[in-house]
Order: sequence, then structure tokens, then C-alpha cells
Amino acid sequence: MPKKDHRKCISCEEFYHRDEMYMSAGASSFDEWVCETCYYEDQPCCSYVTPTCEYNGNIGSYNRNLDDPLWGDPCYDAIEEHADSIEWKSTDAWRGYFDGKVPDGYVSMIEGWTSGGWGGGTDEVNDFSDVWENNKQCFEGLRMFVALYRTSNVFSTSVDVYVHNQDVDEFKRILVRDAIDEVLND
Ligand SMILES: [Zn+2]
Repeated sequence: MPKKDHRKCISCEEFYHRDEMYMSAGASSFDEWVCETCYYEDQPCCSYVTPTCEYNGNIGSYNRNLDDPLWGDPCYDAIEEHADSIEWKSTDAWRGYFDGKVPDGYVSMIEGWTSGGWGGGTDEVNDFSDVWENNKQCFEGLRMFVALYRTSNVFSTSVDVYVHNQDVDEFKRILVRDAIDEVLND
């Protein structure tokens, strides 16, 4: 029988006093509490970047740290919706990756992998990251965000780029324009 006001941590399963615990982010019930250690040691499974937010946010299994600049972002609601949908997908007993669902009103424009931050991944992601690194300001004003997911391979990050359906045409125009510029400058 647990002591008064003590609850079981859903991660380590030890009992702690309620005042020393955090409610699990995205918890479906009021009984999902996490102890302080588990809360802070929780590894982020996804982080977000938008055209105007250099820093972003992390979503862990139990905590959710979406940074202040993101609160005013036009994608904030979509990111919250996405954060709620993140699940671990296992490809075999040891391997897998996190993935989330496309938020309402958004389209998944780019999906792939990258290793060591940007570059060195799938072609589509590499092409996009080139434009993003060099001409990020082009994307300002678009309702879009990049989700970077943790995978079981520490050198590999899974990437999704979501764009609001009304901004898809402009998003495509930016990528095409950049590809043309590259050809012209070669
Ligand atoms: Zn714990």
C-alpha cells in the first residue's frame, strides 16, 4: 500500500510524493505521473523547426517542451496536434523510429532520413535541407514545420516536412526556383 499522496511513476515504477512528480505530457488519464528523474532524463523523440523559430521544441515520451517562440507560430496548433500523435514504430525487435500523423489541414511534402544533422541522407531530404540552410528566409510566412524524429540508429534522424495545404503551391515554387538558380549558377 503506497504512502499517502504517493504515486507510482509510469516509467521506473517507484513511488514518489505527488509534489515531486510531473504529469506525463499527452497523458490520457490523471493517473499518469512521472518522477522528476524520469521526467528530466526522458530523451526527446521529436523536435521541431519552423522558418522563424531557430529553436523549437522537444517532445519526449513523458514531457513536452515547446519553446516560447513557438507559441506565437502560425503552426503552433498543428505542432501540438502532431506531438499528440507521435508513436514508436518498430521495424524489428531492436530497431525502429518515431513517427507522427499529418495534422489536419497539412500535407506531408517531404519524408526521409538524414544522418549527422542535415545532409548525407535521402535525396529529397538533402535537396530540401540545402535550400533550408541557404535560403531559409524564403520560407518565412509559410505555415510549415519540420519534424525531426529520433530513431534506434543514433546517426540517423527521420525527417518529415509538413506544409499547410494553402501554402503547398508556394512551397513547391520555392524549391523549383532554387533548383533553377542552381542550374543557372553552375
Ligand atoms: Zn521514475
